[in-house]
Amino acid sequence: MYNYPEQYAQDIISSFNLTPPIDLSKICEKLDIKVNYEPLGSMEALLIVSPGKRNIIIDNSRNMYRLRERFTIAHEIGHYIIPWHENLQQCDKIVDFKSENTIECEANNFASELLVPQSSLLGDIKDKKVTLALIKELAEKYDVSLVVMARRILEYSDSQSVALIYYPNGNKYIQMKSKSFNKEIKDGRITKSSAHKLLTSYNTSAEVKDVIDSSIWFENDCVSDKIVEESMFQSNLGRVFTLLRVADEDDISDLEWDF
Ligand SMILES: [Zn+2]
Repeated sequence: MYNYPEQYAQDIISSFNLTPPIDLSKICEKLDIKVNYEPLGSMEALLIVSPGKRNIIIDNSRNMYRLRERFTIAHEIGHYIIPWHENLQQCDKIVDFKSENTIECEANNFASELLVPQSSLLGDIKDKKVTLALIKELAEKYDVSLVVMARRILEYSDSQSVALIYYPNGNKYIQMKSKSFNKEIKDGRITKSSAHKLLTSYNTSAEVKDVIDSSIWFENDCVSDKIVEESMFQSNLGRVFTLLRVADEDDISDLEWDF
């Protein structure tokens, strides 16, 4: 028996000989798991295992978009595979990664490793800067959402970066910070940020990249420090996906060329 959920995911990948994008229907077929759609109301998904029957049930009363559903199915496969998880699991708010329940976190770690295997990802991000373009490119390659991909990349990146969701009322939901990131984001609306401008102006493009003073976003920062802000308006969700990275010399000289 393994100690970590990720090891079970690696086992599935190698025993079924899978490469990204991971084919979840093939996994379900091999494991004889059926995926059903029913109205569940208060839950996002269920796993029910009884003698001879293995069922994942996805709530069809909400509009779950395809990539979220994909992560949800991977999460439920995790509950099925991890030996110490019970035969009945009721899951909600899966992709938010907010749960403090160990079992739910383990199923999410399994799903992250299954869909974006570390061994494959490390090759894809080696010597690369964390940019929105990289996150988008790899999200497409692995067939996962931007949020899931940003979390995976920042888990292993040496850069000082943070990925967050910015809402019209100024609320921010931090998705992931890289290990070396230690700045504190200001409370409330960040009115000088591109993220804020994207939500308040109708005349901007859906995506903005800027090198700005670090003090715009962060507490107690020296004015001369610079960060790269890349923000993308997600019109279907009414929010902005933002990536902040401490600027390096290349970013700053690129900026000087722009003027
Ligand atoms: Zn669960």
